[in-house]
Amino acid sequence: MSNSKTIVPEKIVKFESMIDQANTISILMHANPDGDTMGSALALYNVLVKTGKTIHVISTNHFADFYRFLPGTNKIRVFDADNKEVNKKIIASDLVFCMDFNASHRTGSLEDTLNKVKSPKILIDHHLLPDEDFFDLLFSEPGKSSTSELLFEILMLSKYKDMIDKDVATDIFVGIVTDTGSFSHSCNDPATFETSGKLIRYGLNVKEINDMIYNNSSEERLRLLGYAISEKLVTFPEYRAAYFSLSREEMKRFKERPGFTEGVVNYGLAIKGVDFAALFTEKEGLVKISFRSKANLNVNRFARDHFNGGGHVNAAGGRSLLSLDDTLKKLDSLLPLLQSDYYD
Ligand code: 5GP
Ligand code: MN
Repeated sequence: MSNSKTIVPEKIVKFESMIDQANTISILMHANPDGDTMGSALALYNVLVKTGKTIHVISTNHFADFYRFLPGTNKIRVFDADNKEVNKKIIASDLVFCMDFNASHRTGSLEDTLNKVKSPKILIDHHLLPDEDFFDLLFSEPGKSSTSELLFEILMLSKYKDMIDKDVATDIFVGIVTDTGSFSHSCNDPATFETSGKLIRYGLNVKEINDMIYNNSSEERLRLLGYAISEKLVTFPEYRAAYFSLSREEMKRFKERPGFTEGVVNYGLAIKGVDFAALFTEKEGLVKISFRSKANLNVNRFARDHFNGGGHVNAAGGRSLLSLDDTLKKLDSLLPLLQSDYYD
């Protein structure tokens, strides 16, 4: 996790001139927003709003309660809550930013709107294999811990450097903290820690931020985690694999809210000898899957090959249109392939 391509000065010039030429700008996140797509989108919002332009910051669907403290969340417009109005705002924008996703389908129900955008689109992202032709300017660096870290570097090289303040720094810091699992993966590049140090200098309180993200669950969310670990974890030592599944009925029983299962999948990897962990959650009409892995087991490829998904080498997602039971059977039948085909 290092060796990011340097951001060439011409790209920064283009970034600045595309913003200069726009009066109205939309900043989009991926669906089911996590800390990095929210942190990077809100940081960019908090910078660009200082230019006096009209800036919209948009999420496809509702975000987790524990991200509410991020500066700027009160400005987020939720597409699923008001799709006509938000659709109009995006289509009428002179410039669209796509934060922390590599292809338009990652915006879920917003995809059709995004595909209709005629104005230029700028990608800022760290996922593998971006849909290059879709964007007019790409900052795509899979070596970066997070889109938020990448955004900080872009801003520091640009004329917006002096517009970074404590709010912007908080948003960016949250993106880095959440995408690295609190500095435990995807952060072997010293630059991630150097950037974090610079951010703390804006006056951040690391303990307070950590408490807001990780010690702020509803009781039901913690109980669901306990239930998943004690009742729903299946292990396959012969395949170095473990997975959890949660049905709609179970999610309902624990009073599911957005972001409820974030982090659950990681507990599968906590087991000694497990290299592959998955979480299957049953949604309306589909099963959402999270994959995590250790070392050189490539779950990005596994998700792409078998579950319509992708992401990073050690953290990916996907979906299945089969029933939950049939999806689990499919996974069971694929487990032997992990050993033969997916260790890079
Ligand atoms: P999570 O399991 O936290 O939802 O996602 C893990 C990683 O995989 C994230 O980087 C996310 O952007 C990516 N990801 C999640 N779901 C999908 C999906 O359906 N398709 C693709 N291409 N990537 C996904
Ligand atoms: Mn990210």
